[in-house]
Amino acid sequence: MKYISTRNKGEAVASAQAIAQGISPEGGLYVPEELPKLTLTEINEMAHESYQERACKILGLFLTDFTQEEIRACVEGAYGTDEDSSRFGGNPAPIAKLCPDTYMLELWHGPTCAFKDMALQLLPRLMAVSAAKVMPDKKICILTATSGDTGKAALEGFRDVAGTRIMVFYPRHGVSEMQKLQMVTQEGENVSVCAVEGNFDDAQTGVKRLFTDPALKEKLAKGGWTFSSANSINWGRLVPQIVYYFSVYCDLLADGEILQGEPINITVPTGNFGNILAAYYAKEIGLPIRRLICASNRNNVLTDFIQTGAYNKKRPFYATTSPSMDILVSSNLERLLFALSGGDDKLVSGLMESLGREGEYHIPDGMREKLDQCFSAFWCGDGQAGEEIHRLFEEFSYLCDPHTAVASYACRRYREETGDMTKNVVVSTASPYKFPASVLGAVTGEELRAAAPEEEFALAQRLEQLSGAPQPQSLVRLREKPVRFTGRCAGEEMEGAVCAFLGL
Ligand SMILES: *Cc1c(COP(=O)(O)O)cnc(C)c1O
Repeated sequence: MKYISTRNKGEAVASAQAIAQGISPEGGLYVPEELPKLTLTEINEMAHESYQERACKILGLFLTDFTQEEIRACVEGAYGTDEDSSRFGGNPAPIAKLCPDTYMLELWHGPTCAFKDMALQLLPRLMAVSAAKVMPDKKICILTATSGDTGKAALEGFRDVAGTRIMVFYPRHGVSEMQKLQMVTQEGENVSVCAVEGNFDDAQTGVKRLFTDPALKEKLAKGGWTFSSANSINWGRLVPQIVYYFSVYCDLLADGEILQGEPINITVPTGNFGNILAAYYAKEIGLPIRRLICASNRNNVLTDFIQTGAYNKKRPFYATTSPSMDILVSSNLERLLFALSGGDDKLVSGLMESLGREGEYHIPDGMREKLDQCFSAFWCGDGQAGEEIHRLFEEFSYLCDPHTAVASYACRRYREETGDMTKNVVVSTASPYKFPASVLGAVTGEELRAAAPEEEFALAQRLEQLSGAPQPQSLVRLREKPVRFTGRCAGEEMEGAVCAFLGL
């Protein structure tokens, strides 16, 4: 299988090239030339396999230039050894059944307690294999902009991986205390973390600029370095995410919760559009998914887009209690546009140019119809998300984080508005203990805010006592870790920070 860029389908590369490079030379995103297909029989056969076996199968469909042994080694290295996921029989993506029609797909049992681990435990391994294939004499520098969770998961995934260094930029005032502490205490000899003035979009734009700067590229090449990305613009982040949609379907089948071929709906708390895009690909490959429900917080640019076909980033940016979804430019939407346009790279380039120049774009009617056939969208504010946390705890004794709460709210609104009671998998993206102030506040009705790490730890302790749900040990251990990174810079100083890190 070959990969082409959303902005230039003239040149096709192997998956190893797409993964090692991260982004295509003209700034587009790599996508498969055509999607593989799985039949219902093939899906049913996976019902009694382990998560790891399912992952090998799905990855094998996409990474056709990898050997089965290479894929197996990557998958086995990535999943099933965490202390937390061993509680679920080695399944890194267990399901919690909320009520007869609603299931929570818990993707946060990995080392950093957010769903980004699902992809970022695997990506560094895929990248090491890819780099050995296509650029054996190069060292890779991973640059990552984070809205909170990607940074830590990428640092953890790449720490001390031979031949790589990783630098993470986070918005100085845009992440929770716990998220920040996770990053600035990161261990490893090849890592660096820097706060950027501004919001996530500023950090992400800055990183994209570095990636496409020809002068910087040359400077790097002289030192034997090349950049790559651990953000979900990298295809190697998306394939691992397709796996868990197949896996949840197979688990529901194996548990007798659904019948063979029965369609399900999936609700995804969305920011950069990576997670929900993986669900869309799963549907295109053949997984029986009826509708995808895109859930947003007050930064509801995607809700408007899905409802109107107009994307407009010229709007205020809000810092919410679900910071990993505080995004106005959802990078992966570009891949959906490419798919909906039937692979029209000229059209996609035009839309992206318009977004850069005018801050908005409109899609043609034909694409809108296709969008409507598959996606619904809802959003809610912090207050409603808090009420949802409260409700789930009262009704089901289920504790969820603010991102998951946004999705749970959207699932409920979708059902109220459409009457469609199809079984719904709500994607749960973070441990509630990553956001103890918001979650405890929502449960008890108090107005809580943690200004310092000690306060955050105390609130987590209270939340544990109140709910009886155990805190992840990786978060408890943060307390003892020394802070290693205190650097910060303005957007235009990011280049200097990277060069200093690499000694250039
Ligand atoms: C990253 C993240 C999201 C958004 O996922 P996208 O793939 O960017 O849409 C939602 N919730 C949490 C907890 C996250 O870390």
